[in-house]
Amino acid sequence: MPDLSLDLSGGFHPASAYDYLPLPQLRDLQRRRMAAIVQWAYDHVKLFRQRMDDRGLRPWDVQSLDDLAKLPFTQKTDLRDTYPFGLFAVPMLDIVRLHASSGTTGKPIVVAYTQEDVDVWASVMVRTFAACGVHRGDIVQNAYGYGLFTGGLGAHYGAEALGATVIPISGGNTDRQIMVMKDFGVTTICSTPSYFLHLIERARELGVDISSLPLRAGLFGAEPWTDGMRRRIEADSGIRAYDIYGLSEIIGPGVGSECQEQAGLHLFEDHFYPEIVDPRADAVLPDGQEGELVLTTLSKRAMPMIRFRTHDITAVIPEPCPCGRTIRRIHRISRRSDDMFIIRGVNVFPSQVEAALLAAEGTLPHYQIILTREKGLDEMEVQVEVTSEVFSDKVGAMETLTSKLSHALENILGIRAHVRLVEPHTIQRSEGKAKRLIDRRSM
Ligand SMILES: [Zn+2]
Repeated sequence: MPDLSLDLSGGFHPASAYDYLPLPQLRDLQRRRMAAIVQWAYDHVKLFRQRMDDRGLRPWDVQSLDDLAKLPFTQKTDLRDTYPFGLFAVPMLDIVRLHASSGTTGKPIVVAYTQEDVDVWASVMVRTFAACGVHRGDIVQNAYGYGLFTGGLGAHYGAEALGATVIPISGGNTDRQIMVMKDFGVTTICSTPSYFLHLIERARELGVDISSLPLRAGLFGAEPWTDGMRRRIEADSGIRAYDIYGLSEIIGPGVGSECQEQAGLHLFEDHFYPEIVDPRADAVLPDGQEGELVLTTLSKRAMPMIRFRTHDITAVIPEPCPCGRTIRRIHRISRRSDDMFIIRGVNVFPSQVEAALLAAEGTLPHYQIILTREKGLDEMEVQVEVTSEVFSDKVGAMETLTSKLSHALENILGIRAHVRLVEPHTIQRSEGKAKRLIDRRSM
């Protein structure tokens, strides 16, 4: 008698059934879970209850999915301000796991899980692996960091629950990673995309051709990466490279994943309800429109998150996926809202300016955007350092490059910007995050 719960061909696992719920059933499940989690958070999280009370809201005001928009947002700063345990909804007795993410400033943020939460986490990671065609029989090299970071243990428990063989190698020690990959017959790797690129390069130096190994799939996340990088990874290693999405505040990895269509990331929206909001007006946007992803955890007990602002910019893809999953997809995330500015009504991201500048030969990766207002009109100047060869060259070369960059910027942004080429080391260096934007318009 064959065991029908096994999935040796990939693509489906019993846990994946929720990926394919008929839409009325899915929406009804979400609505019921949402009402329950709002009540739960109101009853057990002081900050959330206060914010609801301030707005004159009660849990029963949230009856439909659209009612969610009435509720206040939760920000990353709320986790910092209530450090370490202020947003926990259960006593420590019921918490079986703590993770923490290192912030760029000061204290980390701490996240908590009940046993039920850990089980949900494993199930959404099973669905992630299944969506990427990974199944029982696969040998998974888990090169995400184990420890306070959610990546390592999140992928680990999911791969085990899937029935795959997990190698908990964690990050680092690249030569050993390559030896294990080769000697253990690894078929699947989990890591950041940039670390896998490094593995490919190092393997080549060691005379190991990854494309000749059994390795066939990679689940890459924890940092934004482009389709260009995917093409490079797939060409250099012969594997399928999948984008996965998650964040510690919501659960860790397992919030969303590409399927084998590689055409957007399905969100496991029976547990994580998505909204796309206009980052300026906070209004909810319809599917198809680009904005900031806001997530509400529908089942998390230890630390429910209501309308958490991810700062990740994306859009919900309105069309159904050819794979048949009914859970919605979002576009891959390439930028974040916290660095956006608006000039003459146009949204601009420093990453767009960066892409335009760095495509030109002779420019260095040091630039600054300066915004001013003259006679009520916003002006944008982009200062970019160029190599000393360009700078010492005749005026002609400088002029050509300036005009080339202006055109490139106008093409990408849709607005004109003044470009000023400056000598190397003109722009001040920062020890932390580079300061790309100086906004003098309010002065
Ligand atoms: Zn799909």
